[in-house]
Amino acid sequence: MSNFIEDIIENDLASGKHSGIITRFPPEPNGYLHIGHVKSICLNYYGTAVKYGGKFNLRFDDTNPAKEDDEFVRSIVDDVKWLGVDTSNVLFASDYFQKMYECAVLLIKKGKAYVDDMSADEVRATRGTLTEPGVESKNRNRPIEESLKLFEDMKNGLVPDGALILRAKIDMASPNINMRDPVIYRVVHEVHHRQGDKWCIYPMYDFAHPIEDAIEGITHSICTLEFEDHRPLYDWIVRECEFENPPHQYEFARLAIKRTIMSKRYLKRLVDTGAVDGWDDPRMPTIAGLRRRGYTPSSLITFCEKIGVSKANSEVETGLLESCIRDELNANAPRAMAVLDPIELEIINRDDDYSEQLDFEVNPTVEGGEVRKTTISNRLYIERSDFEVTPPPKFKRLVLGGTVRLKGAYIIRAVDYEADGDRVVKVKAEIIEGTKSGQDNSGVKVKGVIHWVDAKTAVDIQANMYDYLLLDTEDKVDFSERMNPSSLEVRQAKAEAYLGQANKGTSFQFLRQGYFCRDIKSENNVFNLVVGLKDSYKK
Ligand code: ATP
Ligand code: MG
Repeated sequence: MSNFIEDIIENDLASGKHSGIITRFPPEPNGYLHIGHVKSICLNYYGTAVKYGGKFNLRFDDTNPAKEDDEFVRSIVDDVKWLGVDTSNVLFASDYFQKMYECAVLLIKKGKAYVDDMSADEVRATRGTLTEPGVESKNRNRPIEESLKLFEDMKNGLVPDGALILRAKIDMASPNINMRDPVIYRVVHEVHHRQGDKWCIYPMYDFAHPIEDAIEGITHSICTLEFEDHRPLYDWIVRECEFENPPHQYEFARLAIKRTIMSKRYLKRLVDTGAVDGWDDPRMPTIAGLRRRGYTPSSLITFCEKIGVSKANSEVETGLLESCIRDELNANAPRAMAVLDPIELEIINRDDDYSEQLDFEVNPTVEGGEVRKTTISNRLYIERSDFEVTPPPKFKRLVLGGTVRLKGAYIIRAVDYEADGDRVVKVKAEIIEGTKSGQDNSGVKVKGVIHWVDAKTAVDIQANMYDYLLLDTEDKVDFSERMNPSSLEVRQAKAEAYLGQANKGTSFQFLRQGYFCRDIKSENNVFNLVVGLKDSYKK
């Protein structure tokens, strides 16, 4: 099924309005990219430029020197590349400052812009409301020559921050407030991350953005719905600045996901206040965080295909995102056993020198797939919750006198245990002979299968158990009051020997536990929970 943007492009190509298309992704380098930006990248790159054989620009909208930083430029290029996007056209809006300045001068000369001395507060106070027109500034009709001179003074550093502004002269009574003589240039004495102190006047977003698109010959300027009311201003700017074949703006619904924060500004607050461990904390909805968590580019692209592109804002269930990576890892991830809350299990009918190699399928969903060897000896670890002294009703795992199968190995019977107060420290069990997996014709029935790790060959790992950053409470509350206090639980776990050699960034299915990715940053054996095994998302 095609979306409305594709319909527009196909019509434009069929009618000959455009012979080829050019799209762009225009981030402001004031933070790291998040999953919402992935939606925009997928739409502008895979969904349009690639699909229709067009061109794609990654353009930094770096017109606000106070908030922008080279660190953010680098991280954004990295993240966009990681998504598989061709980043050969990396462009910077700041490279167009001269052209923007010339456009502003042109507007003044045409009587379409004027220099005003109102403060930001005065501009706001005189803008009017939805029911009342705005109030014209006393400077609105100042002579063109005077505005030209004052604008030069602004450019030449003779004017302090905020003392003068350049405004488009449109219509203070327009029903669209964006058209009521919007500010298009302001004085900012700050060092720009690329231009240094070359400029001390900076264009406003609504003025700069259409010019950037027009200079690059963007055919379809795709942005989120909140800019719909800005479109008349966009059209006014490209028309009055006399661009030929001006671009056209189309709006789509931004992505919002339940229990997730989706704005660089707020994500920055989490980083700056230390609520998370940096922009790439695996709980963050940033591309860097998702990548460290174990998400793959293809899982994010699949997610964006599934949510589609529409004109209606809505909140997507987190489970949909999770199902995309789960499906992928179920098909691809090697299996392993790890015990996240270990207690010792001693096999009393095997000696200290007992050691046997057992075969395990690396991935049972792959027919005729690889087999790995796992060692079993007389000392194992099992999960604390898999043994109960006083079991609740319907408990299917190990109890005193009861039997259970050790995954891929033997059926055992628990015969004794040792405790320190209430806390069990060791279980003693015996192997029931003739019950080896795959060769069992003993007829012994068990209710449960549990995972285990051989204590003598186990490696120590740290398992980071992640939960959502936000509590599932009313969305109205400020997010700082919705922080989930148990969004990270660190476990010192025991794992099969081969996890000790896992490459950074490789994901595994820990049997009965979930999918875990070997952390890409840590030099230690740290594994991050990607997603649980169960699909709680109802399709
Ligand atoms: P933020 O509030 O997170 O900073 P932004 O829109 O200010 O977002 P930009 O860097 O200006 O961030 O965004 C670059 C592009 O990404 C824009 O075209 C914007 O429309 C798009 N975008 C931002 N957030 C989302 C989202 N949640 N869903 C879809 N597209 C988005
Ligand atoms: Mg922004």
